[in-house]
Amino acid sequence: MRELRITPIRNGTVIDHIGDGLALEVLRIIGVKELDKDSTVSVALHVRSQKTGWKDIVKVENMELSPRKVNAIALIAPTATISIIREFKVREKRTVDLPDRIVGVLRCPNSNCITHQPEPVESEFEVARRTPVVLRCVYCERSVDEFLPLLA
Ligand SMILES: [Zn+2]
Repeated sequence: MRELRITPIRNGTVIDHIGDGLALEVLRIIGVKELDKDSTVSVALHVRSQKTGWKDIVKVENMELSPRKVNAIALIAPTATISIIREFKVREKRTVDLPDRIVGVLRCPNSNCITHQPEPVESEFEVARRTPVVLRCVYCERSVDEFLPLLA
């Protein structure tokens, strides 16, 4: 079988080891619309991985991710690694990891929560459990363990 080659990028971010099938959610988090129009985004779906069997990969030219986006990726793709590329070289590589508090990334599912009021406060969750991840809203104490539908 012929292998799909992803063109190397000069500057940008490579998100590797994304769980199989989650690349499109990662793209949604990155916000492709926010990219400058000359940037290329490459997505590889269902790539063979020695560690986990199958994985997805996303490469984005000319973009480094904000901490908020990295936190969102940590929630839905906890196995992902993020590499910052400058002049074709990997300058920094790290696994995503979940901070103790997650601010502004998810919407609280409780419609009565203060974070949904006419003058909303920014959502804030604390990690109640790490494996598997359970978050708790610091305002109404609602627990959540499914994050995709709640991405802000
Ligand atoms: Zn809440």
